[in-house]
Amino acid sequence: MTIAELNDWTAAAEAGHAELIALRRAIHAEPELGLECPRTAEKLKQALAGLPLTFRDSEATSGFIARLEGAKPGRTVLLRGDMDALPIVEETGLDFASRTHGHMHACGHDTHSAMLASAARILCDRRDDIAGTVLFMFQPGEEGMHGARYMIDEGLLDDPTPDAAFALHIFPNVPGGAIGCRAGAMLASADKVGAMISGKGGHAAMPHDAIDPVPIACEAVSALQSYVARRTTFTDPAILSVTKISAGTTHNVIPDDVELLGTIRTLSDKARKAMGEAFERIITKVAEAHGATAGAWIEEGYPPTINDPRAVALIRKLAVEQFGDSAYIDMPAPSMGAEDFSYVLQKVPGAMAFLGVAPPDGDAAGRAPLHNPSMMVDEAVLPRGVAMHCAFATRFLERGWE
Ligand SMILES: [Zn+2]
Ligand SMILES: [Zn+2]
Repeated sequence: MTIAELNDWTAAAEAGHAELIALRRAIHAEPELGLECPRTAEKLKQALAGLPLTFRDSEATSGFIARLEGAKPGRTVLLRGDMDALPIVEETGLDFASRTHGHMHACGHDTHSAMLASAARILCDRRDDIAGTVLFMFQPGEEGMHGARYMIDEGLLDDPTPDAAFALHIFPNVPGGAIGCRAGAMLASADKVGAMISGKGGHAAMPHDAIDPVPIACEAVSALQSYVARRTTFTDPAILSVTKISAGTTHNVIPDDVELLGTIRTLSDKARKAMGEAFERIITKVAEAHGATAGAWIEEGYPPTINDPRAVALIRKLAVEQFGDSAYIDMPAPSMGAEDFSYVLQKVPGAMAFLGVAPPDGDAAGRAPLHNPSMMVDEAVLPRGVAMHCAFATRFLERGWE
């Protein structure tokens, strides 16, 4: 018998349920935003105090890596939990709702970091049976702040470089306790785009003496949508949404400029590059065709989150072994949301899986979604997330992707 077979991770996680919930609620009640989440880090470190872990702090963020060296040498596996909240006024009415007005854990990162701390406690307890190293990555700044990239750039994943990586994201619209995953694209890239189209202002009654940038902007938006509809393939899709158009001051003045803002979402580096180039080209060429000028910019957000098929096969096997056949859902399509765990997966093979947190009596599809002021989690299923972390780490350390 080996450690992966010997241990009933669900039972171990259930035994630590009270501690897990207390930690999750403490983090939930005091949400922090962005790259600096010092009080969250403090709570997590307190929960890990006294364990056989070595800590390495990130300098640019309040994230840290807790490292567990098994009793025997072996592979290295990374487990990640994010820590940051959102600028949302909480409306759940829970006893442990946010005490910081305007901050809320509406993306479940409180549960992610608490589940990871529970997994660390359980695995430290089994240290004598572990061959290899487990890196617990506690990371702030997931919500658009590139927290994972800062930690990677600081070399926090270089010593030792992990052989596999795993992360969980809760999902209130997936049935409670189910593990959802898919090979390949799991989440999209998210780039911000913008453009300024400059014509020549003038009298609205004499457009021939001006270069009106408003119809040029409209034409550019239409041309962009034609590009998406006719030049991208359904097997590698892209979304381009122009979400803000600003121009002008009153009814009888043609403005000089029109400003456009929007977002591009794709599921591959190839489509992402093509869409970015098309955006710049279409904006500038449409403007040029009408004697106007234009400048376009792209602010790179997160790359697409691409799951390694070997990691997905392992996650499926572990979910079915531990929780039964119906506990695994092969996600039919990627989510067009984005995740900075994608930066980890660019360096290390692995996967992000979803953990359903809808209560058993409710309609999962009708639940308040992530980033909603009423988003709630069925805490009874969180031990399953802890068990998945423990099972993934120990099984990979013992047998690799088998
Ligand atoms: Zn989020
Ligand atoms: Zn999230």
